[in-house]
Amino acid sequence: MKRTIWLINILALIVIGTVGWAVFKPQNQPSQSDKIKIVTSTSVYAQVAKAVAGDHADVSAVITKQNVSPEDYEPTSAVAHEVSQAQVVVANGLGYDAWLNKLAKANTKVQLVQVGSDVLGLKDGANPHLWNDPENMAKTAHYLADVLSKKDPKHRSDYQKNADSYVQSLKPVTNLVAELKPKTSGLKVTETEPVFEYMLNALGVQITNEDFAEAVEEGNDPSPAVLASLRSDIENHQMAFLVDNTQTTSSTVTNIVDLAKKNNIPIVKVTETSPENQSYVDWKLSELKQIQAILHQ
Ligand SMILES: [Zn+2]
Repeated sequence: MKRTIWLINILALIVIGTVGWAVFKPQNQPSQSDKIKIVTSTSVYAQVAKAVAGDHADVSAVITKQNVSPEDYEPTSAVAHEVSQAQVVVANGLGYDAWLNKLAKANTKVQLVQVGSDVLGLKDGANPHLWNDPENMAKTAHYLADVLSKKDPKHRSDYQKNADSYVQSLKPVTNLVAELKPKTSGLKVTETEPVFEYMLNALGVQITNEDFAEAVEEGNDPSPAVLASLRSDIENHQMAFLVDNTQTTSSTVTNIVDLAKKNNIPIVKVTETSPENQSYVDWKLSELKQIQAILHQ
């Protein structure tokens, strides 16, 4: 299509000679349809991409519904088409959304940004639930600003400014983390699944019973020894609170949560993927405020 337009322009110029290159000049200004197209795996990355790109890009997330697991997702042909039209694809990486890597690799013109390896320099095998550390989101914003600045240098200052404002917008979360950290540092905390690990690390807690969380994440039954040690931690109050990923339910997890409640261990409810139509900041604040409330008890 583009080539045809060019040919017509050149022919027109030959025919009419000096009558005004400007009239036939191919449009360099991005029109609505010339906006950079960005596709992300989950809505949390769409939010940061939108914040950084502003009006200069169309951003869409493949997964926006909370009942769809990014780890088990199978892309439809409509999604494959969407990715084939994109100039920038933002994936979590680390095997979390491998389906998107595959689709992006089929599109030779796309720039694939994998947050795990490209932005954070992490290796396969690292915990993939990266967005739970607000610092990781800040780094992603700056990285995307650089990617977009290279693709569209004219709007470089917009992208850089937008990234700075996005990082600024995370302040309620980073401030609350800083406020809680002196009280949470060193506390023993167990997760039903390792989804909140980066936030717990930011809070300086000591994560215990990791084998249990790992087994649940993998869909395996925790071994009797792992279960016994977790139950003993709960019964002996060796746990400041239990972090429960409410998006996964299994009888094993339900039993542990019930046991924790019976022993007055506070439960912090988190979700792996963002509640629909909730901002990242509100989502993280709702989780952190539960911890704040526990500390004030
Ligand atoms: Zn997960």
